[in-house]
Amino acid sequence: MKGGKLIIFSAPSGSGKTTIVKHLLKQSELNLAFSISATSRQSRGDEKHGANYYFISLSDFKNHIKNDDFLEWEEVYRDNFYGTLKTEVERLWAEGKNVIFDIDVVGGLRIKKKFPENTLAVFVKPPSVDELKIRLKKRSTESEDKINMRIAKASVELATAPQFDAIIKNYDLDTALNEAHQLVADFVGVKRKKEIENE
Ligand code: 5GP
Repeated sequence: MKGGKLIIFSAPSGSGKTTIVKHLLKQSELNLAFSISATSRQSRGDEKHGANYYFISLSDFKNHIKNDDFLEWEEVYRDNFYGTLKTEVERLWAEGKNVIFDIDVVGGLRIKKKFPENTLAVFVKPPSVDELKIRLKKRSTESEDKINMRIAKASVELATAPQFDAIIKNYDLDTALNEAHQLVADFVGVKRKKEIENE
């Protein structure tokens, strides 16, 4: 597999990486397309198959593993599998897009290792684990048990931050969005619309 650029956003659940990725996707000059992962977890809230995720059964997921269809996959939480299908990235590269990922830290670093030259791996850091707990509770899409599972994992995930190409501190959302936009613009080699207007 070879093609365009890969931009990875990884972080503990609740750090705000999905908000950042959604913001970046709106910036047309970055020419980004979202890598839709496959997952065996149930859809939440208003999530749509083929937009947020490809929601598939656990047995279908395991078949994909057997067939070596994944670029990477992880059992991120017990019995909840997530993975990037090779066909997904190939599809987006064929469209001439830079591919952006919202994936866990292990998967993110795995992709970086496979494509060291054309990958920018960004870690999004929350202010604290306590703040994460507050954000996850506010989101109220998961049960107490599931929130605790995500919190327990957060400390392990935070320790991987130094392995990433860049760390964005999401203490203030506007600042984080701005930093992320600049970082990606520099990586894909384009100027931000604002910069062009100021010239
Ligand atoms: P959620 O259940 O909140 O949508 O996602 C749980 C975690 O799985 C998040 O950290 C998310 O970024 C990660 N994730 C989503 N898709 C993938 C994927 O394809 N591969 C890996 N390794 N992690 C993923």
